[in-house]
Amino acid sequence: MRPELTVLDAGQRERVRRALRDRKLRCPHCRRDRFEVGEALYLGFLFLDEATDAYLVALRCTNRACPLPRTGVTLGQEEFMGQEEFMGQEEFMGPGHPEG
Ligand SMILES: [Zn+2]
Repeated sequence: MRPELTVLDAGQRERVRRALRDRKLRCPHCRRDRFEVGEALYLGFLFLDEATDAYLVALRCTNRACPLPRTGVTLGQEEFMGQEEFMGQEEFMGPGHPEG
């Protein structure tokens, strides 16, 4: 199976940030709770007890002094994608892919 990266639009990234706040997620390296939201990697049905597709969403700690700013979080599809937004998903085309 080929890993598939999904570029998130502004609304989806905002939902991710909301989900992070709900989970009180913090950077494991500097304990900050502010992140830039990157692409989402499709994982499929990861959890047997969750009737939803899961994604690993790339995060980057916004603390410039952070020793390891790259991290990620596993979220269910419904946590950051609405029905209509899901229809608009596009594949990541590589660096320089234009953003909204
Ligand atoms: Zn950090």
